[in-house]
Amino acid sequence: MNLKSHTLPELTTLFKEMGQPAFRAKQVYTWLHRGVRTYDEMTNLPLTLRQQLAAEHPIAPPRVVRKQESQRDGTIKYLWQLADGNCVETVLMRYHYGNTVCISTEVGCPMGCAFCASTLGGLVRRLEPYEMLDQVLFTQLDSGLSVSHIVLMGIGEPLDNFDNVLRFLELVNSPEGMNISMRHISLSTCGLVPKIDALAQKKLQISLAISLHGPNDAVRNQIMPVNKAYPIDELLAACRRYYEATSRRIHFEYAMIDGLNDSPEAARELLRRLKGLPAHVNMIPLNHVEESPLKPSSRKAVAAFQKILEDGGVTATVRRTLGGDIDASCGQLRRKYNKQSQ
Ligand code: SAH
Repeated sequence: MNLKSHTLPELTTLFKEMGQPAFRAKQVYTWLHRGVRTYDEMTNLPLTLRQQLAAEHPIAPPRVVRKQESQRDGTIKYLWQLADGNCVETVLMRYHYGNTVCISTEVGCPMGCAFCASTLGGLVRRLEPYEMLDQVLFTQLDSGLSVSHIVLMGIGEPLDNFDNVLRFLELVNSPEGMNISMRHISLSTCGLVPKIDALAQKKLQISLAISLHGPNDAVRNQIMPVNKAYPIDELLAACRRYYEATSRRIHFEYAMIDGLNDSPEAARELLRRLKGLPAHVNMIPLNHVEESPLKPSSRKAVAAFQKILEDGGVTATVRRTLGGDIDASCGQLRRKYNKQSQ
């Protein structure tokens, strides 16, 4: 395991086994979480220890292979190359409440959603905890913008990489590290019910977002294979249990797809299904993916859908699209890069 994937107590134990005092572990932890690229930068460490660590525990920071900055809204998209040559994307978005990074949790994705570019080549591998942390850390360092919020909404299914994601959350939240509040972190899932229950048991203060994208099984089955394993009623029952365990309102993402899920009847059905669940619906105009025949809904359909939800007492917002000029939606940049380099 990479040194940066260890919590501070674990690192302290590891250092003890190496015959090093606890304060050394804390020094190293602090340096690593500041984003040093070499042990030589750890100037308060003895040379012999720096040499030993460099030989036994390579830091392996990611390398920027593409960086695209939106001329419209300042959104920055990074394509990172990891130590093994695989690439993942991170997006930095600038909101009035702070700078938000959207990170990837896997290289590719096994879930197979019909509208999503990230899943086109399937899953390559899951990310290690330090590889998620590095996306936050090096985005902050490279951009010079301090990060206050994180969304796990990049490439991959976070709950398919459960243990590593939880460890990442612990690392990024640690006071000796980046110290980013759990309340400023959102995790999005396509609906892995047993993992939603497992997450509920952890009682974290993060926000849970569910990629719903349809009001019933008929619609979800067409675009989200996961629905065949965990149909919508089971998913919403898990959301209710999650709310009971955490008291955190659930966010539902709903990509508006022309003629598929955007009718007034669909809005009314959604309303019925969400009844009694403290929910917020985030409508996302579909981003067109080259390989897919699905098209975004008209503005009129989006407005009508939103009104039905609001009139029914469910808050619904239409997500502002950022970075439309830089392939900033999930998986598009990695896909383009992989195609070009083949
Ligand atoms: N696997 C997780 C995390 C990905 S989050 C999940 O499914 O929730 C990325 C969000 O963007 C998800 O809600 C996903 O469904 C949505 N998305 C993917 N492709 C999209 C597209 N082309 N247009 C709009 N939203 C899309």
